[in-house]
Amino acid sequence: MLEVRNLDAFYGAAQALWDVTLDVGAGETVSLIGPNGAGKSTLVMSVGGVHSSVRGRITVGGAEVVGLPAHRVCDHGVAIVPEGRRVFGHMSVHDNLCLGAYRRAARARYRATLDEVFGLFPRLAARSAQLAGSLSGGEQQMLAIGRALMAAPRLLLLDEPSLGLAPVVTDEVFEAIATINQAGVSVLLVEQDIDRALDISSRAYLLAEGRVIAGGPPETLRDNEDVRRDVLGI
Ligand code: ATP
Repeated sequence: MLEVRNLDAFYGAAQALWDVTLDVGAGETVSLIGPNGAGKSTLVMSVGGVHSSVRGRITVGGAEVVGLPAHRVCDHGVAIVPEGRRVFGHMSVHDNLCLGAYRRAARARYRATLDEVFGLFPRLAARSAQLAGSLSGGEQQMLAIGRALMAAPRLLLLDEPSLGLAPVVTDEVFEAIATINQAGVSVLLVEQDIDRALDISSRAYLLAEGRVIAGGPPETLRDNEDVRRDVLGI
């Protein structure tokens, strides 16, 4: 589904990613873990076409997306849930969701997808007319995920979905991510809660100082000395 090959990313003269190669297979959930500043968000934004100062190859379903603007990457079935959620607080829940369905293919099945999102997050259905800014942090995260789903993606990029959420709300969000994946959407998950992330992933990569330094099934990562020292702090 997603192939990243030898990706370098830059902020001006500063390099943030070095030679990153990774894959997300069709139907997989893959986690990207690593300490602060490792380059996880940069990678997500680069895949989504939001960060464009990159060198290397990124393909989605076999199509090259490097150099495409974000809305064209979205046409290839990629949706991002950015760090910090970024919902439009002055707009209703319903209108925020509508914004996600701007791809032509998504617009055509807007009603059915909206029902699916409301089925996944009944709290959003109950608050459909409410201003997004008045939702709790957890509800805003659900809304950000729902808005991304409205684009009918085949690959969902999630950047730190549990950030700032209470454990019980995080449980709900992770259950929803697992359900989304079971419905056939591939997931690339950046997450600081390593245990939860590994629990729902088939594979994970460890990023440190802009480079992939380990990758494999969850058990391998849990037993990895670098992960235990750099990420888990053990
Ligand atoms: P965190 O977990 O703290 O969000 P991260 O792993 O997502 O960290 P990035 O945010 O991708 O890391 O940052 C990678 C590197 O790029 C860091 O050294 C950071 O300082 C740098 N960086 C990120 N955004 C910018 C920017 N807008 N301008 C310059 N440098 C940046």
